[in-house]
Amino acid sequence: MIASRWIYLAGIRLRNHRIVSNLRFLLESQNWTLDHLQNHQLTQLKHLVEWAHNKSPYYGEKFKKAGFDSRSILNLGDISRIPITTKDELLHHRDRIQIHKMDEPTYYSETSGSSGTPLVFYRNQNWDAWHNASVMRGLSWHGVCPWERNGYLWGYNLSFTKRAKVKFFDRLQNRFRLFSYGNAEMDEFLSKLKNAVYLSGYSSMIFELAKRVNSYENKPVFRLKLVKGTSETISEAYQSEVASAFGQRMVSEYGAAEAGIIAFECPEHRLHINMETVLVEELGGEILVTNLVSYSFPIIRYKLGDYIELEHASKCLCGKNHLLIKSVLGRVGKTILGNKGNYPSLMLYYVFKNLASEKKLILNYQAEQDVAGHLILRIETKLAPTAETALKQELHKYFGTDLDCEIRDQTSLRSCGRKKVDFISMVN
Ligand SMILES: [Zn+2]
Repeated sequence: MIASRWIYLAGIRLRNHRIVSNLRFLLESQNWTLDHLQNHQLTQLKHLVEWAHNKSPYYGEKFKKAGFDSRSILNLGDISRIPITTKDELLHHRDRIQIHKMDEPTYYSETSGSSGTPLVFYRNQNWDAWHNASVMRGLSWHGVCPWERNGYLWGYNLSFTKRAKVKFFDRLQNRFRLFSYGNAEMDEFLSKLKNAVYLSGYSSMIFELAKRVNSYENKPVFRLKLVKGTSETISEAYQSEVASAFGQRMVSEYGAAEAGIIAFECPEHRLHINMETVLVEELGGEILVTNLVSYSFPIIRYKLGDYIELEHASKCLCGKNHLLIKSVLGRVGKTILGNKGNYPSLMLYYVFKNLASEKKLILNYQAEQDVAGHLILRIETKLAPTAETALKQELHKYFGTDLDCEIRDQTSLRSCGRKKVDFISMVN
């Protein structure tokens, strides 16, 4: 335990010596009042916007075109005068957004590319440190130290040599991971997990692992302090499986490579915005993120592509004053095409949410559209006739007779090492 702590701390000092001081800051600022946090955000926002205006040719032009004066920000509400940036713009203008001359080292970074082309960019050292420190603070809320023994689920199918390298670095971080989702490998991983303190990874993969545990006749006993899911929406279907396998709900770490850690769930199961490093807005149901520490590649009023609901004026029992995200509803996906009308793919989320809350029917699903007016709905479990009727009624509520839904139950929804998407469209 002591050795793993020492190795871990030496490792992060080597990687980025600013992590420790930033973590110290965050452990202090988590006790701030909301006013204090917002004042801090305002100062950060002014700096970042001014910096982007002066250093990044892309933002310089964008602000000029929009008639926005970067020195005109006087309060947080003034952010609404800054033009919005989309993912396509980041991809398209990457080289003119990236600020190459920095006084500190930069680190290679890329997005997962689950919703299209991956974005490659470089994070400056301090940004990288804030990111890592934010994860570590989140763990601390659940009594977990990052150097404690942990299982890690990250779905890349790596070559043999890459695996060896990854295993070496995993050992330094006192963690072990699952490289493929065969039953034998999952069983080996689970036997190691009995002696681990926490488990983290893609939520759909934690779900796969939970199903394996629940399939055992004699369920193993785990002593996990935390099961942390990242990168994907955590559905009720996942939560009930995870609770039955590991005796606790999955805790959400909500973020993205370019946006940073946006929010982290506290022990009261509420999602606190990481206000020290991000500014979150909601516009037309979608999240806009300003990454307040993104100096080498400024992310300002960025449309990340998720539907969210913010929680207004509410205090959390955990004592922190950081604002809350009520729920992350899912990716802003492609549109579902009916014979006559178009529907946002978010409607599927409501169909399954209603079934869970009103009928106690928790289903894991994936939808695919091949032609307009037709939707294939894959359900992982076997549907009883009553459940099928309930699902059809719920679909009818949203799509009427405009969409022919073909339900296929008992189908595998494994995402084969990639993020799972709820809706796939083959129609352009
Ligand atoms: Zn809380």
